[in-house]
Amino acid sequence: MLALSRAGRGAEAAFGAGVAGARSWHYGPRMQVTIVPCLSDNYAYVLLAPGSKRAVVVDPGESEPVERALSELGVTLGAILATHHHGDHVGGNSALVERFPGIKVFGYVSDRGRIPAQTDFLEHGATVNVEGLSFRALHIPGHTLGAVAYFGEGAVFTGDTLFAAGCGRLFEGTPAQMYESLNVTLAALPEATLVYCGHEYTASNLRFAAHMEPDNAAVNAKAARVAELRARGEATVPSTLAEEKATNPFMRVTSPSIVERVADSLTGDHSPAAILGAIRAAKDRF
Ligand code: ZN
Ligand code: FE
Repeated sequence: MLALSRAGRGAEAAFGAGVAGARSWHYGPRMQVTIVPCLSDNYAYVLLAPGSKRAVVVDPGESEPVERALSELGVTLGAILATHHHGDHVGGNSALVERFPGIKVFGYVSDRGRIPAQTDFLEHGATVNVEGLSFRALHIPGHTLGAVAYFGEGAVFTGDTLFAAGCGRLFEGTPAQMYESLNVTLAALPEATLVYCGHEYTASNLRFAAHMEPDNAAVNAKAARVAELRARGEATVPSTLAEEKATNPFMRVTSPSIVERVADSLTGDHSPAAILGAIRAAKDRF
């Protein structure tokens, strides 16, 4: 089971033309996930329990593609799960609440006032039971201070904190917070957990990963798979936590190759958090 104790816790590939309506289907035992491209490279996710006629949507950056997906699925909307307050993740909230009055809008407790139409204010570890689906809220600060992941039904929705083969920029949090969010909180989830992130940045993230670890066979193999998917205009999500541990430089801060590449920029502090900060700085310049 997921350990939720706080003890011990101290841009890029865009959608190809004509892909706007593309969607993929993933059937878990208890949840169907429909990928809904939004804006230039965001993903919203429409979630359904088997047989349910009311969906849950994660990070509707805009309302129109989400409404279209709902009507194609023949379902209505019961709730919005917001991973963080940035406009490209919550831009559709108000219109969706207008279209589906009374729906719940979940977000982290400290994002009060920043997430439009928020109705539920989650603490770390809170249970979210919606429309036949069950999730745990995991506070994962780093990209923003109110970032939260939703873990449940064999999947985790990570917003802009954990990307496939990358992580978000440190707009509000510290390297130490991002280190803990990725390598303590998310790393504790089962390895087979499907990772659904907020943007299609995987191809460019893998170019950086290959730069940091040229001899990492998992990175090179994934880059080849991702190139094929992108050539067909397909999404590269979901990934798995096991794949992230094998390919994501921000979850590989003890890799000798990575440590060597950032060693010159470390000033005295060689902690894992400092290494993550140096990797993030190198990615910002890459
Ligand atoms: Zn963001
Ligand atoms: Fe974003």
